[in-house]
Amino acid sequence: MQPIIEVKNLVKKYGSFEAVRGLSFSVQEGEIFGLLGPNGAGKSTTLEIIETLREKTSGEIWVNGFNLDTQASEIKKIIGVQLQSSGYYPGLNLTELIRLFSGLYNREVEPMELLRMVNLEEKAKAKYKELSGGQKQRFSIATTLINQPQIVFLDEPTTGLDPQARRNLWDLIRGIQSKGVTVIITTHYMDEAEYLCDRVAIIDRGSIVALDTPNNLVDQLLAKGFERK
Ligand code: ADP
Ligand code: MG
Repeated sequence: MQPIIEVKNLVKKYGSFEAVRGLSFSVQEGEIFGLLGPNGAGKSTTLEIIETLREKTSGEIWVNGFNLDTQASEIKKIIGVQLQSSGYYPGLNLTELIRLFSGLYNREVEPMELLRMVNLEEKAKAKYKELSGGQKQRFSIATTLINQPQIVFLDEPTTGLDPQARRNLWDLIRGIQSKGVTVIITTHYMDEAEYLCDRVAIIDRGSIVALDTPNNLVDQLLAKGFERK
């Protein structure tokens, strides 16, 4: 395995407020890498900077060897990013939305195949707004796969979902990894990070406070006197 993402001394300031305070980490090809932390920790900011959607203040980032400052357009080609739900034109059904996106990416995609992968075949003719919370998340994850990315970014994909829908989504994310895709996911659920991630960076107020496999992190926490439920 080798790093597919490298982040060095990443800093993001919003005015005088430092939301990301010198983060450094790397993500190995093929792993599910988690950013775990409470609301406001800087997870989305970090993710969106790597996705080329937000300006950094300083630091260096490479994605698959491409430098963010000089080769952002190369990076965009190999990553899958979840759209905000406002991007889903209300008048179109799921099949039509997939056709639209595959046209935008200039990729041949069989909508039913993609919908089957996320278990939404019977919703092929439904509109996005008619889906349940879990179905919406599954659809939005499906759309990240349309450009056949090497890396998929998921920002709190299970927040607000019931336990059953969360489990479904975990299986889906594992399935994406099994196809060789690297996954970066943010979450504020320890159990999710523990179940899903190969390695986890715990972020608090813009800094990484620990980075390890879930097993090692749990051992460290227990050694510090935390109790397992
Ligand atoms: P997380 O995703 O971990 O909840 P965010 O990256 O969204 O955290 O936010 C990190 C911090 O930066 C928070 O304190 C948040 O209020 C602040 N922040 C995020 N976006 C902006 C923005 N556009 N302008 C000013 N402050 C922001
Ligand atoms: Mg966030």
